[in-house]
Amino acid sequence: MKFAVTSKGDQKSNTLMHKMRSYLLDFQLQYDEEKPDIVISVGGDGTLLYAFHRYKSRLDKTAFVGVHTGHLGFYADWTPDEIEKLVIAIAKTHYQIVEYPLLEVIVRYQHGGKETKYLALNESTVKSVEGTLVMDVEIKGQKFETFRGDGLCVSTPSGSTAYNKALGGAIIHPSIRAIQVAEMASINNRVFRTVGSPLILPDHHTFMLKPVNQVDFIVTVDHLQILHKDVKSIQFRVAQEKIRFARFRPFPFWKRVRDSFIAD
Ligand code: NAP
Ligand code: MN
Repeated sequence: MKFAVTSKGDQKSNTLMHKMRSYLLDFQLQYDEEKPDIVISVGGDGTLLYAFHRYKSRLDKTAFVGVHTGHLGFYADWTPDEIEKLVIAIAKTHYQIVEYPLLEVIVRYQHGGKETKYLALNESTVKSVEGTLVMDVEIKGQKFETFRGDGLCVSTPSGSTAYNKALGGAIIHPSIRAIQVAEMASINNRVFRTVGSPLILPDHHTFMLKPVNQVDFIVTVDHLQILHKDVKSIQFRVAQEKIRFARFRPFPFWKRVRDSFIAD
């Protein structure tokens, strides 16, 4: 089996990364940064987001596992003092794989040209470059509303505990194949009207944004931020691709929610 270890880059994470690498080499596993079967991310949830984007072209062949060197994470749920146990589990056991849904984002442009496709593990947001974002919203090809406000956030179930939660969105269990749309400060008065509530869309329902006047937008995908010019539409749906996590012990999602946000 081939493995890679990524680090947040701070000293604590780097030390732990080197330790895990030498332990796994001792167990006769092969270090392969290009084509790993398993990627161990050491740091936080943000570190796992980076690892996901680094290996997104081989999601069907790579499993992820996260160790946290700061606070408990949703993706990074192993503690530094458990790494010996984790190394043995990786090297010696037939571990389980759990799959979480991802978000597909397709940006299309005014004058044809090649569309851009992204995969998000947490979410994608759309904001205007200048002033209020104004966009027509379509769901499954039908006009739904004209949105005016700071922006819109479309998240995955596992991303629902991140930015989406700060916007008043619901927490969705990652066994549900869905995407969630949350508003960022929508303008609501007698003239302008949006639904106001977060929306949860099932598999195969597309959420589409179309410009009303401005055509340049800032689109974020997880930690990445990209300026898109001459946009014709931005389409969101549950992706065909999934992320695979290596699971060595039960750690139910709702327990992670409680331990992260309530108490542990
Ligand atoms: P960051 O600014 O370090 O991340 C913000 C916080 O979100 C960190 O505490 C991070 O945990 C946590 N986080 C990431 N994914 C999460 C998840 N799935 N569930 C719960 N918490 C999660 O930036 P980053 O580390 O590069 O992460 C990018 C993410 O930041 C974006 O995908 C977005 O979700 C989030 N964000 C949140 C807000 C907000 O809440 N107002 C605003 C912008 C962006 P770690 O410390 O373990 O990395
Ligand atoms: Mn972070």
